[in-house]
Amino acid sequence: MDEQSGAPDRSGIPALGLGTWQNDDPEECRESVRIALETGYRHIDTARMYGNETAVGRGIAAADVDRESVFLGTKLWTDELGYDDVFEATAESLGRLGTDYLDILYIHWPAGNYDPESTLAAFEELYQDGIIERIGVSNFEPRQLEAARDVLGAPISANQIEIHPLLPQRRLREYCRSVGIELVAYSPLAKGEVFGIDVLSAIAADHGVSEAQVSLAWLRQRGLAAIPKAAGGEHIRENWASLELELSDAELERIEVIGDERRLVDPDFAPNAW
Ligand code: NAP
Repeated sequence: MDEQSGAPDRSGIPALGLGTWQNDDPEECRESVRIALETGYRHIDTARMYGNETAVGRGIAAADVDRESVFLGTKLWTDELGYDDVFEATAESLGRLGTDYLDILYIHWPAGNYDPESTLAAFEELYQDGIIERIGVSNFEPRQLEAARDVLGAPISANQIEIHPLLPQRRLREYCRSVGIELVAYSPLAKGEVFGIDVLSAIAADHGVSEAQVSLAWLRQRGLAAIPKAAGGEHIRENWASLELELSDAELERIEVIGDERRLVDPDFAPNAW
């Protein structure tokens, strides 16, 4: 267990983090981050595209925790993946977040200006210089992961992808496990759609918990980190309490085979392998 977060240690990536996409109001975003950290979260996920890095930085500064105990990640957008742009954008994000290093920096999508050789050369330099502690990618399929691994001297620590009970991503999970890349599950509550899934409702009722907690426990027990977005203290604390929920093997399997395939984040620049 990671002593700081009370969550299972996953090579330093705390199993439960706070997502911040669409947490657009600066006051609310700052408060969400502060409340999460004071609840026990030690993993905060943002992105340059979310437009809230300054508020996230203020939330970290306002919380009664050391920056060093927080696993902080941001992501570069598709139009800032040229070699020089990577350094410029990262420096700007560090300023907004009020920190001099990132625990992980992700390539948000393998699209736009992304070029495995030049983009990853810049990421590798940031990594060698200690500006970023881990190189992350997001929305990469095995094909893009292979190409990236071919040119990178440093390891890819994590791939952040959409995973929830309506999109269990078994093939990608298996691939990432085989090459030692951690998975960080985004939209782990299927953007709220977990509340309409009968299997989850039945398991939740048996344990006296919510469908959100069941979904998060399933991800954790499958060895995946998850970053649910929650704006208010109630949801933030409810999701944190999922760390206490233990599902049986039979329950995990019932969730695994729900069988629907619903991808909720599917922009037209997504990898065409999908
Ligand atoms: P999500 O976490 O699956 O769902 C968020 C929604 O669920 C919000 O409407 C939230 O409401 C609600 N919610 C949270 N906890 C709840 C609870 N206990 N009970 C009832 N409702 C609850 O969706 P997401 O925001 O798409 O994904 C999470 C994070 O993943 C994002 O914030 C972002 O950091 C990351 N992400 C990354 C990518 C990528 O391309 N890398 C793409 C999408 C998302 P409230 O806000 O009102 O609490």
